[in-house]
Amino acid sequence: MKRTILIHPDPRLKKVCAPVADVTDDLRKLADDMLETMYDAPGIGLAAPQIGVLDRLIVLDCVKEENETPRPLVMFNPQVLASSDDTNVYEEGCLSIPDQYAEVTRPKTVEVEWLDRNGAVQRETFDGLWATCVQHEIDHLDGKLFIDYLKPLKRQMITRKMQKLKRERARA
Ligand code: ZN
Repeated sequence: MKRTILIHPDPRLKKVCAPVADVTDDLRKLADDMLETMYDAPGIGLAAPQIGVLDRLIVLDCVKEENETPRPLVMFNPQVLASSDDTNVYEEGCLSIPDQYAEVTRPKTVEVEWLDRNGAVQRETFDGLWATCVQHEIDHLDGKLFIDYLKPLKRQMITRKMQKLKRERARA
């Protein structure tokens, strides 16, 4: 089932999410809903707080080429174990901040540990777009948005645009 994506500013996007104690059928269903919502948007990552659920759960798939096999990843309690000193700059966007993009600098590679949909511990080192995406999504679980890395003026400008967008949507 497709879920509604919250638009910034929203207090639920600023919350620190709670770890998942056990990967239950309900949580697996939630992850499936999130993947469906992400692909439909379309986007390459989605965090549970973006649909108003304050659990530490993210989904991502950074395979972009039409002819490549999709790689949907579901991560419960994802944690960055190590980050490279090397950095990468990507123009980031966010499904909760539609049509706004800005360059963000982050570690180029990160080693991440998480629980998969069967509750098994997984560990992998991500690079390139995958590394940026997984860091962006984990930030969501700590109430952090990519615009928090920007200068205050730029951040305020984007926030005002989003407030206007929300007013327009509420009226429609
Ligand atoms: Zn985002």
